[in-house]
Amino acid sequence: MEIKKIAVLGAGTMGNGITQVSAQSTFKVTMYDIDQKFLDRGINTIKKNLGRSVEKGKMSQSDMDVIIARINTSLSLKEAVADADLVIESVPEVMDLKKDIFKQLDEICPKDTILASNTSGLSISEIASATSRQDKVIGMHFWNPAFLMKLVEIIKGIDTSEETLNNIVAVGKAMGKEPVVAKDSAGFCGNRIGVPMINEAFFVLGEGIASAEDIDKAMHFGWNHPMGPLALADMIGLDILVNVMNYFNKELGDKYRPAPLMVQYVRAGRLGRKTGKGVYDYTQK
Ligand code: NAD
Repeated sequence: MEIKKIAVLGAGTMGNGITQVSAQSTFKVTMYDIDQKFLDRGINTIKKNLGRSVEKGKMSQSDMDVIIARINTSLSLKEAVADADLVIESVPEVMDLKKDIFKQLDEICPKDTILASNTSGLSISEIASATSRQDKVIGMHFWNPAFLMKLVEIIKGIDTSEETLNNIVAVGKAMGKEPVVAKDSAGFCGNRIGVPMINEAFFVLGEGIASAEDIDKAMHFGWNHPMGPLALADMIGLDILVNVMNYFNKELGDKYRPAPLMVQYVRAGRLGRKTGKGVYDYTQK
């Protein structure tokens, strides 16, 4: 089935980025949310991002106008998905909410519509269990910011068909992304490797093996990472990382124990850039 029309559910951080990248890749797209103010904020973010490309001379104003014209917004779920070939859900990371939405989608979407979730780590098979089309439910995990980051992880649920998988890999490529296929397991592929690497940096810091600056330098200059794991942790938010590690610990075992120092920082309110202090102090900069 050729995918031409996409509906994105949720106009937040990820939803508006996915809407933007869809429209930039010539798909027609409808962005849905539960309140007009969220849709307005989402559209404004997209306009600001595209406007920046125009200012820098990377895109013409008329190209930007064409991209914006491909985007509709709606406060009606039924209307948003009515003729969608693909729905990409990007609402908050709450299993019951996602299952409730997928149940509704199953009832109102055309029977061939593929239902994708942008979940960071919830089970695709469990989300799919709310529908009667488990072969057409799949994970499509974009990275933040979605219009910039090249990776999209495609997660196969236990009953996702090869046809659905191939279709979504093709959509990912059409969006200019590098699709990676992963099994439905905690953290999928990228976070399963990346988050424990950051966690390990906190163990190394906590054990006094090297200073924060030297840990970041080691990974930057030795491993060619664009930024060190501790600086990255401060950007992501230490609270989010501790939650992910706790989830890995529960799902995957002892190997994924959160580093005590990271837990301590969170208890002290040192969550990273968003609180002004994490591993590093941002209050003076
Ligand atoms: P967000 O809070 O920025 O946006 C969520 C949006 O969903 C909000 O605009 C909210 O109004 C809307 N919403 C709430 N209930 C809704 C409903 N019933 N129907 C439609 N819209 C509804 O969240 P986010 O960071 O964009 O995360 C969305 C999803 O993407 C989550 O599953 C998250 O795990 C995943 N994700 C997030 C990131 C990230 O870095 N933020 C990266 C990859 C994946």
